[in-house]
Amino acid sequence: MDERKVIVIGAGAAGLSAAYALKKRRIPVLLLEAHDKAGGRMAGDTIGEFWVETGAQLFSSGYTIALQLAEELGVGFDRSPVATLSTIYNNRTNRAGVLNLASVFNFRNFKTFLTSGIFSLKGTAQFLKFIRFMRKREDDFRSENYSRLEDLDVEASFTEWSRREFGDEFLEEFCRCAIASITLTTPERISALNGMMMLWATFLDNRHTLLTPNRGVGYFSQQLARACDDVTRLETTVEQVFIEDGKTIGVRTLEDGLLEADAVICATQASTTAKLAPQIPLPTQEFLKSIRYNNAVM
Ligand SMILES: Cc1cc2nc3c(=O)[nH]c(=O)nc-3n(C[C@H](O)[C@H](O)[C@H](O)COP(=O)(O)OP(=O)(O)OC[C@H]3O[C@@H](n4cnc5c(N)ncnc54)[C@H](O)[C@@H]3O)c2cc1C
Repeated sequence: MDERKVIVIGAGAAGLSAAYALKKRRIPVLLLEAHDKAGGRMAGDTIGEFWVETGAQLFSSGYTIALQLAEELGVGFDRSPVATLSTIYNNRTNRAGVLNLASVFNFRNFKTFLTSGIFSLKGTAQFLKFIRFMRKREDDFRSENYSRLEDLDVEASFTEWSRREFGDEFLEEFCRCAIASITLTTPERISALNGMMMLWATFLDNRHTLLTPNRGVGYFSQQLARACDDVTRLETTVEQVFIEDGKTIGVRTLEDGLLEADAVICATQASTTAKLAPQIPLPTQEFLKSIRYNNAVM
């Protein structure tokens, strides 16, 4: 048995799965969460008789680790694919249209784009430019070898980059609401690569189906939190990670002062990690600060 003690900061999906994996390997672990509830952006709440997801709602059949974890935790999975239709809402004209997500290149969608009036003429032309771009780069997105997409990993936000590449109408009429509904943030706050990956996964990648646990994604997090209950402390905000001579020695919390550890896993958003550990080397700091939105790390 390994006696090193690990502190995990943040009981979202990433922190919970890290703590669960360590606990299974019998490595002493303490999971610290600022809020009074675990789950982070993958949680839910009971309101009256209803279970309401407060963040993520769907898994992809490509989430092999999460699906395996669900099975281990006895979370029943509805394996029938979720309906592959999505409503697109034009932020400017308040018009909506239904797209078939099975493939954005299909005839039904083109008919929707051209005849429903959701997009302006300029917007349609810019959308076709986006489709041409995606068609050309399909193998790069499909390869999951992210170095093939390095040219999209630029300093600019998704807003700045997509305006330059495709135009303002594409951003306002097609992307703005789609991105906001997936991320709860604006295209200004996500990177070009992140935005394009999201559009790829949502509208173009038809290899995977969308799935949902029988009682919701939040229920999955709840079961994971239950399995980590004995190693979790809620309402404990970490203020700093201590690093001495390049070695992590622990964390300081509002409540405890120093809590010693041999290793610390920061399962918070990247920008929070940069603030918590000011001693990490500058290039890493800058890299962490430049990440505008973290996808699930499961
Ligand atoms: C509306 C919405 C819908 C989404 N839909 C989907 C979907 O359908 N499918 C999908 O796969 N993904 C979806 N996502 C994305 C997914 O929910 C997230 O990517 C994922 O939950 C992130 O998990 P995480 O553990 O990395 O971060 P978080 O869930 O953000 O967890 C970080 C945790 O760290 C805690 N914390 C932060 N700072 C401190 C500190 N100093 N001390 C202690 N604790 C701290 C926070 O309170 C939080 O609980 C969606 C996101 C949103 C917002």
